[in-house]
Amino acid sequence: MAALLERLHALAPVLTRRETEEPDVYPAANIADVQEAGLLRAPFAPERGGEGVSAAVAAEAVALLAAASPSLALLAAMPLGLAGVLEHGGAAVPEEQRRAWQQQREAVAADFRAGRIYAAANSEKGAGGSLAATKTVATRAPDGSLHLTGEKILGSFGRHADVFFSTAKVDARDLPGAGIVEFFLMPVDQPGVVVLDDWDGFGMRSTESQTVLLNDAAATGVLGFPGFIDHVQPTTYWYLLFAAIPLGCAAAVLHALATPAPASAALRLRFSEALMRYESLRAYLLETATAWHPAGDDAAYRARVLRTKTFVAQESVKLCAELFALAGGRHYRRTDPVARSLAGSFAGTALRPPLPLGLESLIENFGLGDLGS
Ligand SMILES: Cc1cc2nc3c(=O)[nH]c(=O)nc-3n(C[C@H](O)[C@H](O)[C@H](O)COP(=O)(O)OP(=O)(O)OC[C@H]3O[C@@H](n4cnc5c(N)ncnc54)[C@H](O)[C@@H]3O)c2cc1C
Repeated sequence: MAALLERLHALAPVLTRRETEEPDVYPAANIADVQEAGLLRAPFAPERGGEGVSAAVAAEAVALLAAASPSLALLAAMPLGLAGVLEHGGAAVPEEQRRAWQQQREAVAADFRAGRIYAAANSEKGAGGSLAATKTVATRAPDGSLHLTGEKILGSFGRHADVFFSTAKVDARDLPGAGIVEFFLMPVDQPGVVVLDDWDGFGMRSTESQTVLLNDAAATGVLGFPGFIDHVQPTTYWYLLFAAIPLGCAAAVLHALATPAPASAALRLRFSEALMRYESLRAYLLETATAWHPAGDDAAYRARVLRTKTFVAQESVKLCAELFALAGGRHYRRTDPVARSLAGSFAGTALRPPLPLGLESLIENFGLGDLGS
């Protein structure tokens, strides 16, 4: 097992205890502990303060955290994914952008080492989870800087973030080489960035997934390089981490209900079936994550990631729900850990791409690829 995962295993009991004691409060101590354990920067190479872990290990780490605290896993996935795409997305960087890319990667890695939190503020009301439907715009100001205006929803970490990476539409005249939408780096504590206090999650109570208003707010730059989203397809990395969240919730529910092993033969059969389903979902996710690479010119891999995210999230939620139905009245309490894992698991189907959008894309791009050839 990767050393990182061993450290997280050792931490898990204390993470779980805090989640149980303070389920609705931003998990500052848990975040500090996983930062201290090197999780958020783990994908960076050792010379940048990380351990060069693969996307598969990052996904395993998120699943492990989700079993202890779904909210903590969701929060951690945002900066962890950023470290992953910056470290492993390099193969797709055009030669002329390489130097700037490396400088930005060094600067972001230094921020991670200093404990600064990078979080995602991309989603918008009514966009259906699609980046292409982004309404926020980035425009070039007279002083040369790029300014963002728009309204973001579900910006997890809220005011606890130091820097948001935020999507915006940009005109190629303002940013030559840019695609229709790019990510921009946006310091949170500056004029023009307003973080509301409107989060009241069904599950994920402590993620502080707030509305974020951007009013002509100055970005420090484009993330990666102009064309980053098209060339690297970074969202595929986050999709895999998001799928790991409901998977970890399913592990927690199964563990809670089947420990100690029940005397009932019917329950043993149901739990054996659940274990087989869990193991196959985990294997599917890790096989896809093991192959992660910048996928701008690899539509087949993008489709595979989409199928994996859609299936693992959907089936993990079903598994949680079916197990919950076997749980008995003792667990039918809003604050019960099994009930909280069930509620937390649903975020996996809502996180990018939300399930209906995932299914829509599968229909549009249906094909069997090289199956059986
Ligand atoms: C707990 C939690 C934390 C989150 N944290 C973050 C975060 O930190 N940063 C961030 O940027 N986002 C975050 N999100 C947002 C998430 O990633 C999704 O992008 C967002 O939930 C999309 O849903 P919506 O509310 O915009 O859906 P709506 O636009 O209201 O759409 C409703 C549903 O209809 C579907 N739909 C709408 N239009 C179409 C269409 N044209 N085709 C097919 N289906 C369609 C959508 O897929 C969706 O399922 C978070 C979400 C949750 C639940």
